Amino acid sequence: MNNILSDRLGRLSTSATLAMSQKSSELKAQGIDIINMSVGEPDFNTPDHIKAAGIKAIEENWSRYSPVPGYPGLKNAIVGKLKRENGLEYQPSQILCSNGAKQSVCNVIMALVGAGDEVIIPAPYWVSYPDMVLLADGKPVFIPSTIEQDFKITPEQLEAAITEKTRAIILCSPSNPTGSVYSSKELEALKDVLLRHENVIVIADEIYEHINYVGEHASMAQFPEIKDRVVIINGVSKAYAMTGWRIGFIAAPEWIVKGCNKLQGQYTSGPCSISQKAAETAFAGDQRCVEDMRQAFERRRDLIVKLTKEIPGLEVNNPQGAFYLFPKCSSFYGKKYGEYIINNSNDLAMYLLEVGHVATVGGDAFGSPECFRMSYATSDENITEAIRRIKEALALLK
Ligand code: PMP
Ligand code: GLU
Repeated sequence: MNNILSDRLGRLSTSATLAMSQKSSELKAQGIDIINMSVGEPDFNTPDHIKAAGIKAIEENWSRYSPVPGYPGLKNAIVGKLKRENGLEYQPSQILCSNGAKQSVCNVIMALVGAGDEVIIPAPYWVSYPDMVLLADGKPVFIPSTIEQDFKITPEQLEAAITEKTRAIILCSPSNPTGSVYSSKELEALKDVLLRHENVIVIADEIYEHINYVGEHASMAQFPEIKDRVVIINGVSKAYAMTGWRIGFIAAPEWIVKGCNKLQGQYTSGPCSISQKAAETAFAGDQRCVEDMRQAFERRRDLIVKLTKEIPGLEVNNPQGAFYLFPKCSSFYGKKYGEYIINNSNDLAMYLLEVGHVATVGGDAFGSPECFRMSYATSDENITEAIRRIKEALALLK
């Protein structure tokens, strides 16, 4: 039999973040001491009161199918969160919960984008956005940004990228992979451009909302003139150290929620019942854990930025959120050590893995071939040792 996969799959690449993490686990299993800075996930355990809610849910037999968009209790907790933390009014009918924010983004794209529709994606971007657009037969349109502009796009760049085929823009702030954070003022300027193009939907990926070092989170949905075109993406993975529980949500105009509900009803149904009960406690319960983890990430940000700045040949911005550093490394391209020749960011990431024993991700997968990504969601000791190894390995390149 011929093993023929669909054309659709042929258009996709494998998730580089997950692939690098897998490779690092394989080397670790062979006994090699690898420091894994590839995948982006908090190294903390899920807080105890949230775990207890999950255990209680099992004991109380929350074991049947939930409504497709999630239990009313979880949707109400999300409505409460949006009001309390963001000053935003939503109805439960405007919330839909999914298997992680990843499915939330993909649902929205699949619900909105058809053949030939364009989706604007500022680069550097999170690896999965372009592939999700391709899955929907759409066309990703990239807006490049450099380290000199702190990896943020300007209103002029946005205006120039919009065409009559533009269906949506995906804005991620705080950003994976750059850690850049758009201020209210910067979002307002982008909003003014978007107001002139009434068919463009804003997909605002705010999954790193709480891992923010500027003291406030700005959302495109805070501008009433455009709120009815904004889809907020958020979830529990990052703020509550719950990556494996797989709960994300959208807060959106009802017609988009209905579209995603229809899709999800045929595809995956409501997300895991136990995880929903735990997520309800995460959103409605004690929030001290969020601030404790945020403070740890801020301390680690300061440490990794300081140490990386001491490496000759690397250039870094000062990330204002998330837990990634995205140094520019192109000064090493064309250099060699033994059989290793560094021609691009993937070569560099592979070199750092094999020679330095630190797993990172090349910038190509994020649409920025001059850079590479390190996740600093790991201990201070690991950060210090990883940067020491990277410095040593890079110094060998001539
Ligand atoms: N958006 C961004 C920018 C991310 O980094 C992630 C992390 N994988 C997600 C969405 C998805 O998060 P999850 O599916 O774990 O909720
Ligand atoms: N968001 C994380 C990352 O970028 C998790 C991996 C993934 O879902 O791609 O590394």
